[in-house]
Amino acid sequence: MFKDKVALVTGGSRGIGFEIARTLASHGAQIAIIYAGSDEAAENACKLISLEGRCKAYKCDVSDFENSGKTVEAVISDFGRVDILVNNAGITRDKLIMQMSEQDFDDCINVNLKGAFNFIKHLSRRFLKQRSGRIINISSVVGLMGNAGQINYASSKAGIIGLTKSAAKELAPRGITCNAVAPGYIETYMTAALSEEIRAGFVEAIPLKRAGSPADVAAAVLFLASDAAGYITGQVLKVDGGMYI
Ligand code: NDP
Repeated sequence: MFKDKVALVTGGSRGIGFEIARTLASHGAQIAIIYAGSDEAAENACKLISLEGRCKAYKCDVSDFENSGKTVEAVISDFGRVDILVNNAGITRDKLIMQMSEQDFDDCINVNLKGAFNFIKHLSRRFLKQRSGRIINISSVVGLMGNAGQINYASSKAGIIGLTKSAAKELAPRGITCNAVAPGYIETYMTAALSEEIRAGFVEAIPLKRAGSPADVAAAVLFLASDAAGYITGQVLKVDGGMYI
């Protein structure tokens, strides 16, 4: 499906991002993954993805505008092009408003929202020139419905939706699509810290009565990156088992 295509996946070293990268690779894409700090996880992820196709890992804090630009240039120099950008890197800093620091708020906005802007910005010239490109931003249902204790995270994920729709309108005339995927409750490292009781509460609230898996999210990204989704742009695809209908 993606022969000769190159996909750049931020936060591709574990969790949902890893599954997205591996799935795209299993359909023929060459993969560049971006990670923040865990060299070992990134190395292991790349080894596993390499079983499907070429993969290289790049260490870069996506919230750093300048380094994001340098990383995009490094990827283009190594792979020759980028066709698919998946802005998946994300963090949580959950606290109630009364306990939340300015830093907690800024960190979420800078990584989750500005990080996506940085990579779109640095790749947009390329995409415009090649008159093609697929951008898929990972939002969250929390960005649509809000969540107590996540004012920072929910704001960043709601921001991703505005960013997606604006980029979609701006880039569409050159054949570039930009969509968002909004996962619900997905079992990953990010959610592993939750207590059994909180998890059970989440699952109870999901009509399909199960937590989602990274593979559920990867399947949606695969579709949006494929030719089959060529006439879809500016959309938010929820992958949440019906959690927010
Ligand atoms: P994980 O915590 O499992 O993985 C996060 C990934 O992002 C890692 O590869 C990490 O790299 C990378 N990363 C974190 N901060 C930065 C940064 N500043 N610069 C570059 N890379 C960074 O997260 P999930 O797989 O659970 O989540 C992936 C995405 O899906 C996120 O955007 C999240 O908000 C979203 N999401 C997740 C849901 C869930 O239930 N899990 C639900 C809805 C949305 P490193 O290991 O090096 O730090």
